[in-house]
Amino acid sequence: MAAALPYRDLNSYLRQRFGERVQKITLDAGLTCPNRDGRVGTGGCLYCNARGSGTGAWVRGQSLAAQMAEGMSRLGRRYGAAKFIAYFQSFSNTYAPLARLKDLYDAVLDFPQVVGLSIGTRPDCLPDEVLDLLAGYARERLVWLELGLQSAHDATLARLNRGHDVACFTAAVCRAAAQGLAVVAHVILGLPEEGPEEIAATAAYLGRLPLHGVKMHLLYVVKDSGLARLHAAGEYACLTEDRYVNLAADFIERLPPHLVIHRLTSDPHPEELLAPAWCLDKSRVLGRLQEEFARRGCRQGDRWDG
Ligand code: SF4
Repeated sequence: MAAALPYRDLNSYLRQRFGERVQKITLDAGLTCPNRDGRVGTGGCLYCNARGSGTGAWVRGQSLAAQMAEGMSRLGRRYGAAKFIAYFQSFSNTYAPLARLKDLYDAVLDFPQVVGLSIGTRPDCLPDEVLDLLAGYARERLVWLELGLQSAHDATLARLNRGHDVACFTAAVCRAAAQGLAVVAHVILGLPEEGPEEIAATAAYLGRLPLHGVKMHLLYVVKDSGLARLHAAGEYACLTEDRYVNLAADFIERLPPHLVIHRLTSDPHPEELLAPAWCLDKSRVLGRLQEEFARRGCRQGDRWDG
């Protein structure tokens, strides 16, 4: 039997809940984002490009049904998985009229292999009727609401051009949790002008919220983003692999032990990535993180202040 990991990992959580391996299928539903279409802003977040942090499958003409079929086939072959979570990842997946959202969610839930929904969106994009819709699904199956926070510091969010503040995120999490929804917070390590103190404060903030889990990202530079321009001008330097491993271990130590870690580092599209190249070798980064926990003799929650 494999040794227990020093953090609450997603695969183990899903195995406990469903009794078998469950894989997420990443979907692009052809939606947009209020931080791109002008409702909140037009430039998007500093690190994002016109692909909206997504797969680009929709603009390539792949319907949701085709994306589901391809994902189930590929992940079934690779992992032997027979159950799946439909993950609406690209852009803001609660940003459309209610009827359209319901059609999209229902279309993937029609697949009998789908045991849950994961909806990625912004904290300022959660009208009551959408929360009601998601809460209805959550009474019968797994539903995760994945909300971008990135940092618990308003100055950083302004620098990133996020178009919302920390208070907006707090309110969104509390409203969703009050409806019984499991919320996953996205955070980024390596943000401009953030170091260990800011990251520790973000972990402490997350620990005080009614969250189900956390998804960690490395800040990386993609083509045609605002960050690419800063990077080219020498105004942003990416984290080194050593630095990321250290900061990630610090961050996880400060999270409460009950939070499920949905992701430990980023998974960029190789053809879009400008820097840092080391992040493409995800398994090496994850291995180094395990080594760092072993070297420290610590685990998730050891430095939680709750
Ligand atoms: S909210 Fe998401 S999709 Fe919209 S600009 Fe920011 S990263 Fe891109």
